[in-house]
Amino acid sequence: MKRTTHLLDTRLSTLFLAASLLSPWALAQAPSPDRATTASPPSTVKSPVLAQRFTLANGMTLIVRPDRRAPTVAHMLWVRVGSMDEVDGTSGVAHALEHMMFKGTPSLKPGEFSRRVAALGGRDNAFTSRDATAYHQQLPAARLEDMMRLEADRFARTQWADDEFRREIEVIKEERRQRTEESPRARMFEAMSAMVYQASPYRRPIVGWMSDLDAMTPEDVRNFYQRWYSPANASVVIAGDVDVQQVRALAETIYGAIPSRAVPPRKPRLEPEQVGPRRLEFRAVAEQAVVALAFKAPQWTGGTDPASQDSLALTVLSAVLDGYSGARLDRSLVQGSGLGGKRIADSAGASYGLYGRGPQLFTLTAVPAQGVSTDTAAAALKAEVARIAREGISEAELKRVKTQWTAGEIYKLDSVFNQARELGNYWINGLDVDAAEQLMSQLGRVSAAQVQSVAQRYFSDEQLTTAVLVPDPTRRSPAAGANAPRPALTRH
Ligand SMILES: [Zn+2]
Repeated sequence: MKRTTHLLDTRLSTLFLAASLLSPWALAQAPSPDRATTASPPSTVKSPVLAQRFTLANGMTLIVRPDRRAPTVAHMLWVRVGSMDEVDGTSGVAHALEHMMFKGTPSLKPGEFSRRVAALGGRDNAFTSRDATAYHQQLPAARLEDMMRLEADRFARTQWADDEFRREIEVIKEERRQRTEESPRARMFEAMSAMVYQASPYRRPIVGWMSDLDAMTPEDVRNFYQRWYSPANASVVIAGDVDVQQVRALAETIYGAIPSRAVPPRKPRLEPEQVGPRRLEFRAVAEQAVVALAFKAPQWTGGTDPASQDSLALTVLSAVLDGYSGARLDRSLVQGSGLGGKRIADSAGASYGLYGRGPQLFTLTAVPAQGVSTDTAAAALKAEVARIAREGISEAELKRVKTQWTAGEIYKLDSVFNQARELGNYWINGLDVDAAEQLMSQLGRVSAAQVQSVAQRYFSDEQLTTAVLVPDPTRRSPAAGANAPRPALTRH
């Protein structure tokens, strides 16, 4: 049950770069414990105390989930601003700002923030996605107040010298070279996003187009910071060994003191309906071809409306196709039990964005096996969905993916960081603090007939964008100044 996420986060990306093929438009993917888990979960879920949400005097949101199993705490600051809030000409500015947030305040020198967190016995990082920017630390619970003071100072008073920006933008451009320009697959998925979406800002890469990075000024980044980093557009999420009322009082004193500012209105920039197939060929020096099929899909908004119900069924469909080893795509395309027993692909996958601030997709991908054309691989991917549209899924498959989902939710609770991350994600998307419980109980009610029904309704060519990576030895990768010294990447 892979949720497509779209993050720029170094630690995750080094772990999951290998999986990036299966996670289109993603430079990183969060670990998905459910994939490796087949054991039955305990019949009763010992859920920690439910999270509580408060609004501070200046409009900032505070979400606290006590979990007193270990003397540790996860502290995250989420800003409801990501690459989707950028405009043409300054793509990549949300991510550039995330980097500049480590460059100091009137009372902190550049780089000092992370050294202070380490001195508190913690570790920290940050990431930018299409929907959000988040700063996170994990540290001993006894040092939470110090952490809150550091983060409130950074949120309200980050500043940098122009020179500092000029050095950092070179690091960011290097990040783009290493993660996108030197990866034919990443470039194909970037080109695919730009074709799938026309009006939606999801069409732009999170890291930004290179020419926009070349032209970016320190003032562009400061303006973005001034515009979006206001208390009413942010939430502090704390999970771990804490007392809710104590944390609330601290947050009122520390974060609540930041002056309030209005959040600027957002333009809707809705994606117009797609009315016919789109197709893209991306030619590059590459070892193997790749084919990706993206279908426009509805999303979960927490309710019981038809679109939300369909999105739950699509989540199950994605898991039935690719939620565990030996799932349908693997069995049929990779192990070769489908299409006359022929091995079609070296790898194949399905992913679906269950929710987000922008429009979501259901994506099928394959790396064709030696001697197999991308057309054949694409046909085999479509055939697996068509088979479910025709014959439905078995009760055993349905039960298996539901059990797996439940187990995944339980394992997620093992980490206070995962809890904070999930709560923050729900807040970013306007969902309630009990969204995880809602989601679990709603998923539990999805029927095999609903899964068959979405397989019948959402996979027409009308809604399809196909992208093919065509290996072409005559193409040279962009000259990245092969002999010039290259700046080292930072961690975020
Ligand atoms: Zn970065």
